[in-house]
Amino acid sequence: MPDQPPHAHQILDPATEEVVATVPATGASEVDAAVVRAAAAQHRWGSAAPADRARLLRRFAAVVDDHLEELARLEVREAGHTLGNARWEAGNVRDLLDYAAGGVERLTGRQIPVAGGLDITLLEPLGVVGVIAPWNFPMPIAAWGTAPALAAGNAVLLKPAETTPLTALRLAELALEAGLPEHLFQVLPGAGEVAGRALVEHPGVAKIVFTGSTRVGKEIMASGARLVKRVTLELGGKSPNIVFADADVERAAAQAPMAFLDNAGQDCCARTRILVQRTAYDRFLELLAPAVRSVVVGDPSNEKTQMGPLISRTQLDRVRGYVPEGREAAIRGSAPDGPGFWFPPTVLTDVPADDPALTEEIFGPVAVVIPFDDEEDAIRLANDTEYGLSGSLWTRDIGRALRVSRAVAAGNLSVNSHSSVRYSTPFGGYKQSGVGRELGPDALTAFTETKNIFISTEA
Ligand code: NAD
Repeated sequence: MPDQPPHAHQILDPATEEVVATVPATGASEVDAAVVRAAAAQHRWGSAAPADRARLLRRFAAVVDDHLEELARLEVREAGHTLGNARWEAGNVRDLLDYAAGGVERLTGRQIPVAGGLDITLLEPLGVVGVIAPWNFPMPIAAWGTAPALAAGNAVLLKPAETTPLTALRLAELALEAGLPEHLFQVLPGAGEVAGRALVEHPGVAKIVFTGSTRVGKEIMASGARLVKRVTLELGGKSPNIVFADADVERAAAQAPMAFLDNAGQDCCARTRILVQRTAYDRFLELLAPAVRSVVVGDPSNEKTQMGPLISRTQLDRVRGYVPEGREAAIRGSAPDGPGFWFPPTVLTDVPADDPALTEEIFGPVAVVIPFDDEEDAIRLANDTEYGLSGSLWTRDIGRALRVSRAVAAGNLSVNSHSSVRYSTPFGGYKQSGVGRELGPDALTAFTETKNIFISTEA
């Protein structure tokens, strides 16, 4: 823990380095007080009529909808997201709240046939849930945990990332405006080592939903284990994009750039290992080069921009560590000069198997292209990683699409597409990409305890 944790965080616009706001940091004792208030609010919320909970969550969704543009513009300022992405992200929060509201009254238990009586299972709220969010998708990822946790009858304490607390704080205000009970959803901005750690170590917090680095995820799992704390972890990725020679190679090459450049590559699902069948390799690279160079990098508030800056100087330095000045790149796009945390789209080839650019999550606009020989080779390369979050494969052969999808050890695969995230389908990782699943029809269940009750019918 740092000797002197900061008492406030300056929020910088990553495109200009201007100070957007200064946000006080929550201390450990303030986390304690927030847990007490949340527990009281949860007590009432958990026993409220499900229809009332659903109605309030729908109202929250409607209020978010009324503020979509404001939320999106705030995300552009604090996170450097392109306006188009930020609008989608604010809409995703609304949709998640709506979808979760629909789940409140469908959170049914079971009646299981047994001898001598009646057996029922109830799905009860956990209590107070801590959501620790990252800076790469501050709004959606906060809502992935928050919306189903609230719907299942819990209170939520949300700890946003140090660099991106503003949309989270605004969402908490909108929740109150929508009529959600006070203290049910509180946002605790501050340092991970202080406010985040306090949530993880607090006996009054029943579960932690964490999205971020695999290193911190492991620490949270280890320290949470002291209290047998429930955890959902969404961690890193190094996802493959497998292009077979029988695919529509033109389409695969046209769509490959944004699969690793979206959000400037700061995406745990980024397809950063592009595996191309050797017979199509040269053709693919020929098509990829103009596609990468035509990506519009610049002012994220401009509607035409496709890629903005990295989040911070720290992240920029981290990315430069993998691709230092002078390192040869097969393809290099452009990026603005001057202030802001800019790094150009970059594609590396002929990379040794143990190069960190190939084995580690860079979280920047950098991909590596590797040739493979056949299906078996593609699967071996795709699985040659400690991660297993996402992946794509391009082929016209339906049998191959299914074989390879089943053989790749990852939680989210797409065929002839790069789409991984929908609020209505489950999302999460194999191996060191995480534990548990978010989103989809079972999202609420992850925020419940199952209680089994047997009632004797013996006379
Ligand atoms: P991080 O894991 O340190 O931060 C994520 C969140 O965890 C933040 O809210 C942070 O304040 C909090 N946190 C940090 N230490 C904590 C602790 N000890 N206890 C509780 N909470 C804690 O991520 P980072 O340093 O901002 O980014 C580093 C790298 O992590 C990136 O380069 C990227 O590779 C990866 N990352 C992945 C994702 C993802 O979606 N998988 C998101 C962000 C970062």
